[in-house]
Amino acid sequence: MRKNVMESFPLKSHVKVKENRIKAWLFCRFKNAIFLAVVAALSLVTACDGKPSVRLSSSDLIGRVVKVADGDTITILDSSKTQHKIRLQGIDAPEKNQAYGDAAGRYLSGLVAGKEVRVAWGKRDKYNRILGTVYANGEEVNLEMLKAGYAWHYKRFDSTPAYAQAESAARAARRGLWAGLNPIPPEQFRHGVPSPSAAPGRVEYHAGRTLPVSARTPAPVNATWPDTGYWLSTNSNKRHNRNCENYRKTRGYPCQKNEGERCGKCGG
Ligand SMILES: [Zn+2]
Repeated sequence: MRKNVMESFPLKSHVKVKENRIKAWLFCRFKNAIFLAVVAALSLVTACDGKPSVRLSSSDLIGRVVKVADGDTITILDSSKTQHKIRLQGIDAPEKNQAYGDAAGRYLSGLVAGKEVRVAWGKRDKYNRILGTVYANGEEVNLEMLKAGYAWHYKRFDSTPAYAQAESAARAARRGLWAGLNPIPPEQFRHGVPSPSAAPGRVEYHAGRTLPVSARTPAPVNATWPDTGYWLSTNSNKRHNRNCENYRKTRGYPCQKNEGERCGKCGG
């Protein structure tokens, strides 16, 4: 601030000194107000840059669901034939190429595909999708996805108690994706952030792929792990079935049939 004062009022000549001093005094007198204005302007800019950007009006949309992209994104067509892409707010479903990604999409399709829905919304996200709560047949679809265990409660952006409770209940009952042994929050999966809870024998994900954590994998097989019929080799990201010579013989963990890539020999 001080530096700016000097730059704003350079001393061009001796005669100007007094005038500049007055200007500097005025600047100091009002610098708090100027500072506050700058802070306000900056916070507006940051708010626009953040994920859920604030939109002024809040409204309801009615439309028919014409596309279900995945477990948390749909497209609706309203009566004026305008399409709106809706991101179900407060939840985060597994990515398409992630374990349970397809299952989550199918479950959401079962709830809304082809149906007329109401969308309560107030904001758009940084991709200009409407962040909304979807209602179909009197059910709150976002909540239903959590109850069925096909989405995480997106706690970073939402604090709805019913959503937190629904996720906890689904976890406890091991419904949907919670039946998997190593559910990775989609946000981590997308950005390749190592799982902070990665325990020995578990894998970390990076850029949408499982990667070996050899140093953290002390033994190839943990005898206490359940026999799911499928084995994910963490060094290769290949999934083997029970008939494969690699089943429970490599470094890895028991997995579901939609995790990893199919083994070329046994078909996964
Ligand atoms: Zn195999």
